Amino acid sequence: MRDIPGIHHVTAIGSDPGENLQFYTETLGLRVVKRSVNQDDASVYHLFYGDRSGSPGTSMTFFPYPGARQGRVGTGQVSTTQFLIPADAVDYWIDRLAEAGVDADEPRERFGETVLPFEDPDGLPLELVGVAEAPAGDPPDGPVPPEYAIRGFYGVTLALGDTAATERLLETMGYERTGTEGTRLRYEADGDLGYVVELLDGPDVADGRPGAGTIHHVAFRVTSEDQADWREELQRFGLRPTEIIDRKWFESVYTRTPGGVLFEYATEGPGYTVDEDLETLGERLVLPEWLEGRREEIEDGLPPLSTDS
Ligand code: ZN
Repeated sequence: MRDIPGIHHVTAIGSDPGENLQFYTETLGLRVVKRSVNQDDASVYHLFYGDRSGSPGTSMTFFPYPGARQGRVGTGQVSTTQFLIPADAVDYWIDRLAEAGVDADEPRERFGETVLPFEDPDGLPLELVGVAEAPAGDPPDGPVPPEYAIRGFYGVTLALGDTAATERLLETMGYERTGTEGTRLRYEADGDLGYVVELLDGPDVADGRPGAGTIHHVAFRVTSEDQADWREELQRFGLRPTEIIDRKWFESVYTRTPGGVLFEYATEGPGYTVDEDLETLGERLVLPEWLEGRREEIEDGLPPLSTDS
C-alpha cells in the first residue's frame, strides 16, 4: 500500500446556496466543477468547487441548506480548512479579501509560513497559507490571476479532546510528525497539495455541533488498487469503516475516527469529467441515474443560484 499523499476533498455544511457559490467562485476564484444534489435530500444542492478540473486535492464541497441552523465549530471536528497559495500572493489576498468585505484576521506566522485566517459567509473557518515553493497547479480561468490563485488544499486542522489515537492513525496512513507549536501538533504527508494535518490538543474546547459553518468530513486520496487494503487496515486499527461506496466521481470508504472526526478515503479517479466535458464542467445540474426520472421536479424544487440569472 502506498502512503496517503494528502487530502482528496473537504465537505462542509452551508446555508444560502447563492451566497456560497458567489463566495467560492467570485471571491476565492475557484471553479464550480460539479452541481448536483444531496442524494439523501434532493431538495438540497451538493456544490463542488476546485481547480480547472476539480482534481484530487483541490475540491471543496458543500451541502447548502437554505435557512440551516448555525453549527458550532469545536472538538471532534475539522476546525479549520486551509488553502495553499504562493508565499508572494499573501499581500494580494489581504487586499482582495478586504475589497470583497471579508473580515480577515491579521496574518500570522506558523511553522515558518504566513497564515491568513478568515471565514466564509456561514462563519466556516478558513485559512490561506503562503508556501514558498507552491506547486503551479491548474487554476481555473476566473477573477484571480493565475500567479496568485489558490492551488488547492494546504491542509486541515482537527480539534480533538485527546490526540493520541488520531496521531497513531495518521502515522498508519504514512503521515510524519514534523513540528509542535503550543498545543498544535503538525503532521505531513509526502504530497504537494493537502499534505498537512494539524491536531489541536484541547480538552477544554466545547464539543462541535453540526450545522451551517461546520465541516462534515475530510477525504483523503487513495488509489483504486489500494482502497480495499486501506479499508482492512482501518479495521485492524479497530475502526468500523463502511463498505466501498460508488460515488460516481470517485469510490469512497468512510469511518468515524477515534477523535470523533469523520474521515473518508476516496479514489483519485475517475474524477469530475467522467460525466461532463471539461469545458462545460459544473454548468448543468448532474443527477445520479436513479434520480434522472425526477429531474424536472428536482430542478423546480431547488433554490435559484445567482449565476443562473
Ligand atoms: Zn466526501
